Amino acid sequence: MLSDRVVVVKGDIVELDVDAIVNAANNSLLGGGGVDGAIHTAAGPELLEECRSLKGCPTGEAKITSGYRLPAKYVIHTVGPIWRGGTSGEDEMLARCYRNSLKLAVRNGVSSIAFPSISTGAYGFPVNRAAGIAVDEILDFLEKNSSIEKVLLVCFNERAFESYSSALEEWTTEG
Ligand code: ADP
Repeated sequence: MLSDRVVVVKGDIVELDVDAIVNAANNSLLGGGGVDGAIHTAAGPELLEECRSLKGCPTGEAKITSGYRLPAKYVIHTVGPIWRGGTSGEDEMLARCYRNSLKLAVRNGVSSIAFPSISTGAYGFPVNRAAGIAVDEILDFLEKNSSIEKVLLVCFNERAFESYSSALEEWTTEG
């Protein structure tokens, strides 16, 4: 079943042994707080060095680097939208983060990938709404693409875990 290829997990994304982990980065790609800080700390200074050579990333797009000291082979850096109330194209921008990260993953032969809850930390996107968008985009993509076998939705707290779990459950019962 399609939805068996998506799993909601609780934990720290830097520890996951998958082909690629996704970073919720900022436009500079030069590191920040939250999950970005955790990924840079775990990957080591070589990651920042490679990121410097990428010259930033527009919101909604994605760029790939090596994972260095992480168990993951690659880091896919994407930049989520800053929440501005929901009428400034935030939903579509967040959807593009998932789509573009998955496209880049396929182009690089990735078959397992882990996403954090993009934009729902410092960028303030409501987690329930973000979870619905993430699940829709991922499952739409997997429907058309068989090379990605497993997508992990990594939740750092109970609240996020509940939001992503119910979004996935809703998709399964409706879809
Ligand atoms: P953004 O700026 O896109 O909002 P943040 O890093 O501030 O990014 O937050 C995105 C999400 O990542 C939040 O839900 C936060 O709780 C979560 N997060 C923070 N650290 C980690 C980690 N080590 N592993 C997984 N998720 C994390």
